[in-house]
Amino acid sequence: MSDNSTDESSRRARWWQWFGGNADDEPETRESQTQTVAVGSKDPTAREVWLPAKRRMISKVADFLIDHDLEVLPATLTIAYECVTGGAPRLAQLILERTEKGLPITLGWIEEQRGESNNDKHGEALAVLMGRLESSLNDFSETTSGARSATSDYSTALQRHVDDLENVSRAGVVITELATLTRAMMARTMAIESELVSSEQRAQSLQTTLEETRRLADMDHLTGLPNRRAFDHILEREIREAKTAGEALSVAFVDIDHFKRVNDTHGHPAGDRVLKFVSETLNRISDARCFVARHGGEEFAVLWRNHSVELAWEKLDEAREEIAARRLVNRANDTPFGQITFSGGIADVFGYPDKSAALKAADEALYAAKQSGRNRILRAGEEPDPQQKAA
Ligand code: GH3
Ligand code: MG
Ligand code: MG
Repeated sequence: MSDNSTDESSRRARWWQWFGGNADDEPETRESQTQTVAVGSKDPTAREVWLPAKRRMISKVADFLIDHDLEVLPATLTIAYECVTGGAPRLAQLILERTEKGLPITLGWIEEQRGESNNDKHGEALAVLMGRLESSLNDFSETTSGARSATSDYSTALQRHVDDLENVSRAGVVITELATLTRAMMARTMAIESELVSSEQRAQSLQTTLEETRRLADMDHLTGLPNRRAFDHILEREIREAKTAGEALSVAFVDIDHFKRVNDTHGHPAGDRVLKFVSETLNRISDARCFVARHGGEEFAVLWRNHSVELAWEKLDEAREEIAARRLVNRANDTPFGQITFSGGIADVFGYPDKSAALKAADEALYAAKQSGRNRILRAGEEPDPQQKAA
């Protein structure tokens, strides 16, 4: 919280002006304004009724910005308004938890939280829609191919009957007419059959588009790696298959060290390039038994099938060493990025009662790696080496 009262009042004046108020109308300080409700008037005007309420609301928004030491910007005002009016309960809860931990609330952090929850929601909604579309398409394909083979059988049968009819044409004009009519029906049936063939082809190409869309929805667009949603599915599948095959399964969380500094010093686009570099290096350890995903922000998840924690540790540590040994330069202005490192935590998936406990253990090991100096990989439960130099 800012303890500078001059700062506080000038910030208050700025948001008030941003809101369209003029200097004379500026609300009073937090202590006095609770007493500005109109009292003593027998017949208050509408303005007297709503003005104090409006002031209280604006004051809550201001308190939010001041308490969290946020700049007065259109974006922070919207966020503050949503949080104090209950329009963003999840974000308000996350802010509360972060404040309780004594961590700062920055606009970047808030936007990251909002971005993540929107992406999650959109990804899930898209997956449900695609699932529905796919099952409708399957039904459609089954129906059309069933209908087509029925029409085809029907055509063959009709052809036989027409031939028979023509053989008995001596029976007269009625039979000839019947044959003509049947020929017309046959032509129509054949047209329907070919329409069904092209419908089937269209359904097939839609199915291909759908598969491509699903692939894109599961991919992180910056790094090209599977995203968090895809990773969750891969993890479920691997747990099932590794259990059946009696194989080991190890999971790791990886987080780039002091990545905020990279953005702050070199800008977000340069930060994106560093992220891509780390993801490419990590992705080189992936193969048929190792999956690397972008779990969110500057965090990655890695899953190894048939790898003990020890083997997984060795592979991840090689990638860590490789990245730490590089001296990257920002190609936009030839400035060195300085040493880029990451920390990681690894756990044995089957060493815990369930999936969430294993993920939590890997996350805690990552936290311990950060706490003990960064640029290192810890196995779950492992005590950090006190000899290792802090980053
Ligand atoms: P620590 O070593 O404790 O992990 O420190 P840190 O600075 O890496 O961690 P912090 O969580 O404070 O900051 C992470 C930063 O990563 C903040 C966020 O803006 C940035 N970030 C997240 N996603 C992206 C992205 O896609 N591109 C860029 N350029 N930055 C990102
Ligand atoms: Mg980090
Ligand atoms: Mg992080």
